[in-house]
Amino acid sequence: MSDDDVQLEARLEEQEEFEPPAEFVEQANVSDAGIYDEFEENWPECWEGAAGMLDWDEGYDQVLDDSNPPFYEWFTGGSLNASANCLDRHLEERGEEVAIEWIGEPTDEDDRTFTYEELHREVNEFAAALRERGVGEDDVVTMYMPMVPELPVAMLACARIGAPHSVVFAGFSAEALATRMDSADSEYLVTCDGYYRRGDPLDHLDKANEGLSMVEGDVSDVVVVDRLGPNGDDFGHDLAGNQHDYDALVEEQSGATVDPVGRDAEDMLFLMYTSGTTGQPKGVKHTTAGYLAWAAWTSHAVLDVKPDDTYFCAADIGWITGHSYIVYGPLALGTTSVMYEGTPDYPERDRLWEIIEEYGVNQLYTAPTAIRAFMKWGSQFPERHDLSSLRLLGTVGEPINPRAWKWYYKHIGDESCPVVDTWWQTETGGMMVTTLPGVKNMKPGSAGPPLPGIDARIVDTNGEEVEAGRAGYLTVNKPWPGMLRTLYNNDERFIEEYWKEYSDVDSDDPDDWVYFPEDGAKIDDDGYITVLGRVDDVINVSGHRLGTMEIESAIVGVEGVAEAAVVGGNHPVKGEAVYAYVILEDGYEGSEEMSDRIVEGVEDAIGPIARPEDVVFTPELPKTRSGKIMRRLLEDIANEDELGDTSTLRNPDVVEDIRVKVQEE
Ligand code: ATP
Ligand code: MG
Repeated sequence: MSDDDVQLEARLEEQEEFEPPAEFVEQANVSDAGIYDEFEENWPECWEGAAGMLDWDEGYDQVLDDSNPPFYEWFTGGSLNASANCLDRHLEERGEEVAIEWIGEPTDEDDRTFTYEELHREVNEFAAALRERGVGEDDVVTMYMPMVPELPVAMLACARIGAPHSVVFAGFSAEALATRMDSADSEYLVTCDGYYRRGDPLDHLDKANEGLSMVEGDVSDVVVVDRLGPNGDDFGHDLAGNQHDYDALVEEQSGATVDPVGRDAEDMLFLMYTSGTTGQPKGVKHTTAGYLAWAAWTSHAVLDVKPDDTYFCAADIGWITGHSYIVYGPLALGTTSVMYEGTPDYPERDRLWEIIEEYGVNQLYTAPTAIRAFMKWGSQFPERHDLSSLRLLGTVGEPINPRAWKWYYKHIGDESCPVVDTWWQTETGGMMVTTLPGVKNMKPGSAGPPLPGIDARIVDTNGEEVEAGRAGYLTVNKPWPGMLRTLYNNDERFIEEYWKEYSDVDSDDPDDWVYFPEDGAKIDDDGYITVLGRVDDVINVSGHRLGTMEIESAIVGVEGVAEAAVVGGNHPVKGEAVYAYVILEDGYEGSEEMSDRIVEGVEDAIGPIARPEDVVFTPELPKTRSGKIMRRLLEDIANEDELGDTSTLRNPDVVEDIRVKVQEE
């Protein structure tokens, strides 16, 4: 590093608050600070603006029907179609503009560009094909697909005919597919032959077929997308009797049009199973109007998406971020949404930066796990590219520690892009807690205040608000349009999981109902919320409750550390003790000295009570497909317990590697 760099790093390290760049504020979609008060005074009518971003077949009668909490209904009496809102209404003005810019992993393959017109055409054809196969309104269609453009096509085709979709991560196991199809009573599947991962074609249909053989209910039809062309021939799959080639189906319907089905505001748009970090997957039900309004409004207000932008969310459509912020939000706003099939390190560790430069990307929305990997790889990779088209950066999925935040801000955003750290969940449908980038200062490590109109609080076990600075539980005390409506076919579990804790379940007064996301958090004097992680990610050392995130943040603050996960393991004296699993940045070694520095770092930041009992250096951590650390597996290792379910992991082998390593020590 040059002297200038060292000085810059030192200045950044100390800076706790960042103003939004003036140039950004000038052009921001939302820049009036009055919006917070305005929404509070005018609640729930404040959400009419979001509903007004959509085209309705039939206007709604009521903004919020809260007569039967927690089964809230939004924009009741209205009817609309999500695919018409994402496609048809843009045709006149933006038909020739790009809707989806798809980039495959192999660099020698041509990109696939879909203008709004082209996307509209293919969605119509596939909608006609689905109908022909017998898919009717309200039939759940499962999609077990990687990042291919046929996935958003299939989602929008379903939306067009009023058939809810249920997208299952391509990386999930065969068994995970089967359980989800059965749980959703889904008789239709759209899948594909395979996809590319780090240069090699991967057989996906084999896994899909295995899953199908485990489905207990009837499977009527399966559509298979040919992603690999001749490169997939080696897998030697023949389509079974009820399996149809996607291209053939679409070809047969060439030029067909399907009138978008008018859906009631509260009709189900899709079902999405949560990533499963905390046990049994939950089938989260989202509806048409509230969800779409939420995705569109937050894309506008937080991601600052404008129709002329080229916007890139590097998540997978197989999780909610991709639903709301690759497909529905950006397309509802008529922008260009970039979709990338592969990993950020193929063929080299600068692939995302190359994409951003080549397409002139304006917003990048990604996850802390990716940002920490970029940081570990080093700034020489982004430095190879001109990233000056970027205007805004976003992060979602886990808490981001200040060091990674600042790295992102400096090395990707060149200190001229606001960073929005967005807290939300599958269940919330879209963003809930984050700074409005054109209004609020940013504080690294803190997501920010609740969005206007969102009543989020930090409370103790009795539901009383805690003082600033104290750890408590995050709650949402008023409903919002994008909220889940229930867990599929399981109203009881819906109440049990999210409401029971802080609500008077016998009351029909909405004021007695409080949503509990099951995350721990704290709030500062300015009302900024720092999410500490899941409530069950709390370690109890000798009676002291320690949040894993705080300890991890201290560890990642140590020079040379890229990423850390801490868990509680049984300890004869302390009850629980802290075990730390650490990934180092390239160029650092897992020495005893490093281990001492980490322990010291934790003691300095939090106190001796949080001192890790053991520091294990590992090249990888067990992660879900959405990039979340699966702490419960690390706990199993620390406790020498039998390993729990690893079927939703991206890298199941790493668990065994870590276990062997721990046993050897
Ligand atoms: P499951 O509910 O099945 O265990 P999951 O909670 O991992 O899965 P998601 O809905 O994808 O499934 O993740 C939402 C969770 O991710 C939040 O509840 C929170 O714990 C975490 N999270 C998301 N964004 C942030 C953020 N910006 N800061 C801190 N935590 C975040
Ligand atoms: Mg969750």
